[in-house]
Amino acid sequence: MSDQNSNSGYALLRNPRLNKGSAFSEEERRAYGLEGLLPPVPTTLTLQVARIHAELGNLDNDLQKYLLLSDLQARNETLFYAVLMSDPATFMPLVYTPTVGEACQKFDHIFRASRGVYLPITARGRLKELLDNWPMKDVRFIVVTDGERILGLGDLGVGGMGIPIGKLALYTACAGVPPEYCLPVTLDVGTNNESLLEDPLYLGLRQHRVRGADYMAFINEFVQAVQVLYPRCCIQWEDFANINAVPILETYRDKVCTYNDDIQGTAAVALAGMYGALRISGQKLTDQRFLFLGGGSAATGIAELISQAMALEGLDIAAARDRNTLFDINGLMVKSRTDLADFQKPFALDHAPVSTFVEAVHALRPTGIIGVSTVPKLFNQRVIEAMAEINERPIIFPYSNPTSRSECTAEEAYRWSGGRAIFASGSPFGPVEIAGKILVPGQGNNVYIFPAMGMAVFATEATRVTEEMFIVAAKAVAEQVTDKSLATGLIYPPQSQIFEASLHVAARVAEYIFDHKLARIERPADIGKLVASRVYHPAYAA
Ligand code: NAD
Repeated sequence: MSDQNSNSGYALLRNPRLNKGSAFSEEERRAYGLEGLLPPVPTTLTLQVARIHAELGNLDNDLQKYLLLSDLQARNETLFYAVLMSDPATFMPLVYTPTVGEACQKFDHIFRASRGVYLPITARGRLKELLDNWPMKDVRFIVVTDGERILGLGDLGVGGMGIPIGKLALYTACAGVPPEYCLPVTLDVGTNNESLLEDPLYLGLRQHRVRGADYMAFINEFVQAVQVLYPRCCIQWEDFANINAVPILETYRDKVCTYNDDIQGTAAVALAGMYGALRISGQKLTDQRFLFLGGGSAATGIAELISQAMALEGLDIAAARDRNTLFDINGLMVKSRTDLADFQKPFALDHAPVSTFVEAVHALRPTGIIGVSTVPKLFNQRVIEAMAEINERPIIFPYSNPTSRSECTAEEAYRWSGGRAIFASGSPFGPVEIAGKILVPGQGNNVYIFPAMGMAVFATEATRVTEEMFIVAAKAVAEQVTDKSLATGLIYPPQSQIFEASLHVAARVAEYIFDHKLARIERPADIGKLVASRVYHPAYAA
C-alpha cells in the first residue's frame, strides 16, 4: 500500500493525470524509478493515439468502444483527450449520446474504476465533508444529475453518473475546458425504477425517490457546500425530471453561477438554427411566427428564449410570446383551456380552440414549425404542403429524438416542400438529393452551445450565467455558417469543426460577460486570446 501511495514510478503509472504509459522518456524512467516497469523502448503520444484508433477499429460494438475509452480515461487522461480531440465528431457519439445511454442503463453491470463524487441523501449534513474527499481543490465546473430523467431513458438512479462524466469529457474535447477543473457529481435520492431496486448488482440507495422539502433541502446543502469549497465553480444541472429541473433553476439562477443545459442549451441551439434559417430566407426574427408541436419543457424553453430574443429586437415581450404558439396532445394552447400548467400559460393564445395540427397551420400561418412532441410522423404530407403553400422558405424543425421519433425525415420535408424547406432536426439525417440538388440537413445538437458556454464561464470566472448569454451564443453559432453551407441548406457549422466553432462562441459570450460586469477577472485587451490561453491541449508535460 505504502509503495503505491508514495511518489514512486509505480504510483506514477497509476495516476491518470501524470501517467504517460509507454511514452515516458528514458530520462524520466531513470529519474522516477520506472525502469523495468515498462517495455524498454519509449514511444510517442502520436503513436499511442494511433494504437487506440486501431484497437477501436477492431471492435464492432459501441459499448465495448465506450468501455475501452472509459478505461483509458481512468489510466491516462492525456492520451484519452488526445484520442477524443483527434476527431471529436467521431468520438462524441461514443463518449456521449447515444452510446452513453446504454452505458448508463448497464452501469451496475459494467462498473469499473469509480469517477467523480456520489452524494447520497443518507449523508445529509455531511455533503461538504464528502465533496472534500475529491482530491482537486480548485473545481470550476460541476455537471450534476440526480439520474431521474436520463436522456429519453427515464429513471436510472446512480447509473445516471455516465451523463456528467460523458458531458464533461465533451466540455474538454469540444471547447478545451481543462479536465483538472471539472467534477462529475451524482446526487442519489433513491430511484423509482423497480427493476433497479430489485437488481442485486444495483449500486445506489435501495429506496424510492425523496421528494418535496427534504429533496430541496438536500439540493440546497449541495449548492451551499459547493459555494464554500469551490467559490468560483459553475454548477450545470443535467437530466433532472421537469418537476425538479425548473424549480432548481429558478431558485439558483440569480444567486450562484449555474445553468441547465436541457432547458437553456436546448433553447439556444434551436434559436441558433432560427438565426441560421433567417440567413437563408433573409427575413427578420421579429417577423416570424412559430408553431410548436408539443408543449413540454423543450417547447416552452425554446419558445421563451425565442421570445426573449424577439424582445431584444424591439418587440414587447407579450407580443413576442404571441408569436410562439404551442400545440400539444389536447390541441392548440388557447386561453380558454383549463388544463394548462403555469409554465405554459404565457404562450396561451387568444384564439378559438383548434384540434388538429394541420388546421392550426392554416389558422395561424406560421413561418416555422418546431416538433418537440416525442411522436413520429406528425409533420405529415398535409402539414408540410400547407407550410410550403404559406411560405416561400418554410422552416421545418422536427426536434424529437431519437431518429425513430422525429416528426418527419429530412427527405419528407424536402420532397413535400419541393426542396424549399429550411430543415434541421434533433437527430442526424444524411444529405438528400432533390431535383439534382444535394441538400444537407443540420442537427440541432446542444454540443454547439454547452462546451462553449463552459469555456466562456471558465475563462472569465463569470459570476452568473444569464439568459442573454444563450442568445449571444446562438447568434455566434449561426454567424459561423458559411454561405457555401447555407447554399446547401445547412444552417449549423459542420460538427467536424466543433472545436474552432466552440472557441468562437466562447469568445463572443466572454465579451458579453465582460461588457456586463459579470467577470471575476480584469478585461483583457484581446478576449479571443484570453480564451485561447485557457484552452487545454492534450500533451505530456516535459
Ligand atoms: P415532454 O414530455 O415534456 O413534452 C412532450 C409534449 O408533446 C407534451 O406537451 C405533449 O402534450 C406533447 N405531445 C405528445 N403527444 C402529442 C401529440 N400526439 N400531438 C401533439 N402533442 C403531443 O418532452 P420534452 O422534454 O419537451 O422533449 C420533447 C422532445 O424534444 C423529445 O423527443 C426530446 O428528445 C426532444 N429534444 C430535442 C433536443 C435537441 O435535439 N437539441 C433537446 C431537447 C429535447
